[in-house]
Amino acid sequence: MNINKKKYTEIVSSLSKNQVLVAVSKVQPIESIKALYQLGHRDFGENYVQELLAKEAALPKDIRWHFIGHLQSNKVKYIAPFVHLIHGVDSESLLKEINKQAIKNNRVIDCLLQVHIAMEDTKFGFDENELTQLLLKPNNIIQDLKSIHIKGLMGMASFSDDVNLVRSEFKKLKELYNKLNTSFSILSMGMSGDYKIALEEGSNMIRVGSLIFGARQ
Ligand SMILES: *Cc1c(COP(=O)(O)O)cnc(C)c1O
Repeated sequence: MNINKKKYTEIVSSLSKNQVLVAVSKVQPIESIKALYQLGHRDFGENYVQELLAKEAALPKDIRWHFIGHLQSNKVKYIAPFVHLIHGVDSESLLKEINKQAIKNNRVIDCLLQVHIAMEDTKFGFDENELTQLLLKPNNIIQDLKSIHIKGLMGMASFSDDVNLVRSEFKKLKELYNKLNTSFSILSMGMSGDYKIALEEGSNMIRVGSLIFGARQ
């Protein structure tokens, strides 16, 4: 077990009331999650379905599990009964599958659309044009998906020391967030290396792992 209490407290106390910290616990042991839980933390983020299922089964039921990884359609059914928020939704077919599994579980599943903001090609997500089509076009498919609720957007900036580049990418995402939908309420951006910049640029949900739990193996 290895959590940095001091860093955790520092991050939490830097947040305002409407800003949420998702503690990214992927690859970290159950004991570390328990330690943070005992400090009162409830929002945890995981990237891998199998790992999330094992942790969900072993840990208290009032944890809000955020799925922040790349989700394959054929795995949605496993997390649909309990997942609190799916951050990385990046295709229409995934939206349809989440809606289908939400209906089966008799619930509405909250989702964020992942936006491709970084320079790197490796990051998943919609571009601005696709998002506009998806959300603003008359008779778009979202209207028919009554069992999902699109709460906002998620993005990852370039993995770079160039602060100006990172800031400009977050700015772009915030502008898109404002432009696309006034009923959005969640803008998920910022990780260990760039959460301060993300908060300055309007993030209200940060996903922080290694600063709290230490480096991943
Ligand atoms: C792993 C991960 C994080 C946390 O990364 P850290 O740099 O450890 O804070 C945040 N968001 C996503 C999507 C991740 O995959």
